[in-house]
Amino acid sequence: MTATQEATRGLVEIHDVHKSYGGHEVLRGIDLTIQPGEVVAVLGPSGSGKSTLLRTINHLEGIDRGSVTVDGQLIGYELRGGRLHELREREILRRRTQIGIVFQNFNLFPHLTALENVTEAPIATGALSKEDAHELALGLLARVGLAEKADQYPRQLSGGQQQRVAIARALALKPKVILFDEPTSALDPELVGEVLDVIRDLAQLGTTLVIVTHEIGFAREVADRVVFVDGGVIVEQGPPSQVLVAPEHPRTREFLAKVL
Ligand code: ADP
Ligand code: MG
Repeated sequence: MTATQEATRGLVEIHDVHKSYGGHEVLRGIDLTIQPGEVVAVLGPSGSGKSTLLRTINHLEGIDRGSVTVDGQLIGYELRGGRLHELREREILRRRTQIGIVFQNFNLFPHLTALENVTEAPIATGALSKEDAHELALGLLARVGLAEKADQYPRQLSGGQQQRVAIARALALKPKVILFDEPTSALDPELVGEVLDVIRDLAQLGTTLVIVTHEIGFAREVADRVVFVDGGVIVEQGPPSQVLVAPEHPRTREFLAKVL
């Protein structure tokens, strides 16, 4: 690869991705390149394929056509001897550690404390010793404002606190990109702000983020780019000042009129 190609290569590259469930084509040719440090907000109606798209980036969902690469590595496959081979589960798990994901419903391990939720992956993958993982986790919990909750179990925490633990957990493996799937949709309104504050901090630190959200104001504030998805295709994308303020496509306008 030449220096120019290197410089223009995205951290996440999605090319012509198609995905069907049964006979239903949910992703119908998605092309999206995300640069290092970029914050991309993905908007779109329910059922438009947003979660499926995120899951293809994180090896949680196979695709029928096209390709997804993260930092130059293909998702799901590797090139050996000039041919594509499906990755083994072990390698998928290893590569998945480079991609953080935060779900709508937190998905913390209920039987582990906040601290143990954060130390679990670095210890299990052998990335860190128990002592180092412990120290890192304390630092990350402090960063999301939960230093004093380290020994609490998820059921003892509010939704907003659980989601902040989930973000600390995603950060523990120092991922190259973090994917958020409607991170505040399951929260009571008064808890939304504390989670958005943490995501805003990550954005300001230059973390590469892909955020599926219905929080239009937040997208406008933190996103470098807004991508509007409908019916499994990208209908429109561009800077928030364009897509959210003066959308070109009628479907984008219709969607924004409903959520704003
Ligand atoms: P969004 O996140 O935009 O609401 P999804 O990506 O979750 O949309 O879903 C897109 C479409 O794919 C929906 O019609 C949904 O019912 C369908 N779908 C998603 N996951 C599955 C699955 N595992 N099996 C079958 N259909 C699915
Ligand atoms: Mg979804």
